[in-house]
Amino acid sequence: MRATASILHLDLDAFFAAVEQRDKPSLRGKPVIVGGTGGRGVVSTASYEARKYGVGSAMSGREARARCPHAAFLSGRFHAYRETSRAVMQVLRDLSPLVEPLSLDEAFVDLAAADLPDLEVATVTEVGAELRRRVHEVTGGLTATVGIASSKFLAKVASELDKPDGMTVVPPGTELDLLRPMKVTVIPGVGPATNERLRRAGIHTIAELEQVSEDELVRLLGQAQGHGLWQLARAQDLRPVVAEREAKSISVESTYDVDLNDRKLMEGILTRQAKEVGTRMRKNGFSGRTVSIKVRLHDFTTLSRSSTLSSPTDDGATIARIARALLGDLDTTGGVRLLGVGVSGLADWVQEDLFGDEPEEDEVEVVLPEPPRRTWPPGVDVVHDEMGPGWVWGSGSGVVTVRFETAETPPGPVRSFRMDDPALHRWEPPPEE
Ligand SMILES: [Mg+2]
Repeated sequence: MRATASILHLDLDAFFAAVEQRDKPSLRGKPVIVGGTGGRGVVSTASYEARKYGVGSAMSGREARARCPHAAFLSGRFHAYRETSRAVMQVLRDLSPLVEPLSLDEAFVDLAAADLPDLEVATVTEVGAELRRRVHEVTGGLTATVGIASSKFLAKVASELDKPDGMTVVPPGTELDLLRPMKVTVIPGVGPATNERLRRAGIHTIAELEQVSEDELVRLLGQAQGHGLWQLARAQDLRPVVAEREAKSISVESTYDVDLNDRKLMEGILTRQAKEVGTRMRKNGFSGRTVSIKVRLHDFTTLSRSSTLSSPTDDGATIARIARALLGDLDTTGGVRLLGVGVSGLADWVQEDLFGDEPEEDEVEVVLPEPPRRTWPPGVDVVHDEMGPGWVWGSGSGVVTVRFETAETPPGPVRSFRMDDPALHRWEPPPEE
């Protein structure tokens, strides 16, 4: 580890849900769940108000509804998330030229590359506080949690400690005192499946992990991950902040000579592929947040759908559940000739720098789900010729209900229209260059 606390990790709090609450004033302070809107969808992000009811990332929409029936279930507006993320990343780049985004809502910043008088604890603490103020300002009120420490690993751990809307600075020299009582799951790359293997070997905390020899960990988890965890259990982590980094993914796909028509069979194939993806992820010490499926139809149209979780997974059963839910949103009635499952995003930085072995893989094209334009998924932006901008509160039986409010207005009125009302339009920003 470095001698100074020069690595900062910033994590926006309940990001997708927070953007929705910013843009939909009537939902502020209320449970909001992004994802899980269809009968078979999966929760992407739950607001803190919804988390109190036990709703979490990767949970099925059905279970989330059972736990928190009065929550607002929204389909997600990725243009708004991308735009807000860009503003945050710019604030970070104004501070230091070395910024490494991990996803839309998380990044590392190398403070040693920033123009600071020194890297004393008092100085970096003030930098972190000012950064949080700026993020709040440029995002229109979103909060972020910050961790500052002597390595990426510790900065990431520190940013989890005071969520939401907090900050933790780990003074150099105190890293192991902080880590030892913690559960092994704080280590990025230790997803549910790896955790289960460690648990069966009687290893729950980092203190316990520290007692295990490197040979034993390699025997238990394989060369790459065993060696990596042995180092992290000792807070040994000198990985640099890397400004430009490609997103990594692991995927499995298969093509078929005859078109598949049976939904149950397709789900079975996706489940098997998801388990294989999970196995390869664990072998490489990898866990990721974005689960994608690829489906080629009988007419060779290729569709990709993906779902992003707020915490990483390496668990085949979880990946399978999300993959099946994504398939549930597609019309495959004409038959399917290719199916594939992949996971990308986030915790790959662990694997790439520390564990060495690059997973052999095909890139998955990640396309965020954008429903067809004349449907009215809950949460999407609309404009009515007379009433102005609003968002879809719900729809059914030929009627769409809209709440007319924006980030700049107080909570607004609710009106219902016929679904084919020519005065009502979906609103999306112009396509990016
Ligand atoms: Mg976050």
